[in-house]
Amino acid sequence: MQILEERIKKDGVVKEGGILKVDSFLNHQMDVDFFGELAKEFWRLYGACGVTKILTIEASGIGIACITAQLFHVPVIFAKKNKTKNIAGEVYKTKVESFTHGTVYDVVASKEFLRAEDRVLIIDDFLANGNALLGLLDLVRQAGAQLIGAGIVVEKAFQPGGNLVRGQGVRVEALARIRSMDEKNGLTFAP
Ligand code: 5GP
Repeated sequence: MQILEERIKKDGVVKEGGILKVDSFLNHQMDVDFFGELAKEFWRLYGACGVTKILTIEASGIGIACITAQLFHVPVIFAKKNKTKNIAGEVYKTKVESFTHGTVYDVVASKEFLRAEDRVLIIDDFLANGNALLGLLDLVRQAGAQLIGAGIVVEKAFQPGGNLVRGQGVRVEALARIRSMDEKNGLTFAP
């Protein structure tokens, strides 16, 4: 998506360790009007698929998921990083390894809100090694819901997540795909 690539070139900062900082519009300060443009693209891609729920993971997926949901007119569920004690049976639970923090944590989604009859679109800000997305897919499978696909704002295509998840037969649409990235030379985009 042209406007996203231009925005990343203008405002993105490539950090050590293969991290792209886009805190000025996506991950910290959020440009909500710009999110509206991204949401329109997710709607173009998935609007005809009969989506009934949008699923994301806290925290940085929530903003773009909510703006997208305004076009789909469906609720957003965000998988919660499990800090509280939940009575077994109330929640679907899976483990996710954090790319940015290097830790493993549980994420949960209530059985009340993620249901077998749902047609689920996953929305997230980044796809890197794929752990967050694989965790969300696991929650959808546990629920017996139908997965429509995933909409990702930025895929770091030089990391294995995209191939891994597409290899499982999942439709993954990324609005910008970064082919290469380093602090010296900046970044290039893949088609
Ligand atoms: P994965 O689980 O695919 O390795 O990473 C996905 C999650 O890690 C995203 O939800 C995002 O929060 C974070 N992440 C991964 N790579 C980057 C990056 O380069 N920049 C930022 N800002 N977040 C990232």
